[in-house]
Amino acid sequence: MTENNQKIIGMDVWQINVPVVSKRSHGIGDIEGGFEVVLLRLRTEAGLEGWGEAACWSVFTGSPEASFFALDRYIRPLVIGKTIADRQSIMLAARYAIAHASEAKSALETALLDIEGQIAEKPVWALLGDKSADKIPLSVSIADPDFNKDIGLLERIYDDGVRMVKLKTGFAGHDFDLMRCEAIRKSFPDIALRIDFNQGLQPDEGLARTLDLAVFEPDFIEQPVRAHEYDLMAEICRKCPVLLLADESIFGPEDMQRAEREKIAGGVSIKVMKSGGLTRAREVALMASKAGWQCYGGDMHETGLGHLSGVHLMAATPEIALGCEFYHAKYYVREDILNGVFPIKNGYVEIPDSPGLGMKPDLEKIEKLTIRKSAMAR
Ligand code: MG
Repeated sequence: MTENNQKIIGMDVWQINVPVVSKRSHGIGDIEGGFEVVLLRLRTEAGLEGWGEAACWSVFTGSPEASFFALDRYIRPLVIGKTIADRQSIMLAARYAIAHASEAKSALETALLDIEGQIAEKPVWALLGDKSADKIPLSVSIADPDFNKDIGLLERIYDDGVRMVKLKTGFAGHDFDLMRCEAIRKSFPDIALRIDFNQGLQPDEGLARTLDLAVFEPDFIEQPVRAHEYDLMAEICRKCPVLLLADESIFGPEDMQRAEREKIAGGVSIKVMKSGGLTRAREVALMASKAGWQCYGGDMHETGLGHLSGVHLMAATPEIALGCEFYHAKYYVREDILNGVFPIKNGYVEIPDSPGLGMKPDLEKIEKLTIRKSAMAR
């Protein structure tokens, strides 16, 4: 059986801890030792497998526990016994069966599309739209509280051909941020600099500190203040000469609609994990572009599997034109979970053309990192 009417008969869920090479700080929290993600495998009666990742962060999108139980308990009954052709109705049912849990819903849609692509013998991007490019420029984030270590990373990625970095700011004082901007501008003049506060500034310092960093003429400055501070974002957007990007303020199309109306930014970080799947993330990008906003290909703390859904989304969505940050698989995790090397070459992510996501995770690697596994009857 190779058609879309084959039933989904199995669903496995893992919560894993992925060790990382260094500490990283962001305006809303740190990552140290490792980060946790939830993996989903769907199995069909014809023996096909589809994979998806829920990359969560408790201070940003939600906890891994929430994603795990969203899939294992609440979404499972909506999936088992349905066919691959039911993707849209499954996603609609999941949307209303459990509030939030956008990362779990992203994993679900990714796994369904992975199987659908294998059946159609098409890459996932071809199920969403036309391919707009063969590769996507890669941005690597600079976020080590020890800047000397980041100088080493900057030299390494520069040698690898990366010409785009995003400096994480707002976690260790304004002088530290000014010093690092100056150092990067001086030592790497041909690297495109972007800045991301991850909500790190207090309301009374948000505007002044954003304007201070705008002097370094970064391509954009991202989310200086808390997600809900829409009025302040709008004020900063009006007064800042540099493109202001919203990230934590905009999850799905509903947020995008309000953000556009209230003019809180001129750009948005598009993330599959925030929107609850590729389809909704694409909708955010199309809405933003129509409003004259620019779009960036963001991610969470992910493995190569999580990156892949973002890569396929971007391949089919030329509106996301500010590059991507799918660097964790190569530059941040100790060992990626894919059964091959996540495709980064000369500072670009290459877009896979093989059916489905184009790569699969390695089960042995997953088992070694597992801290919780689905136990429900299936
Ligand atoms: Mg961000």
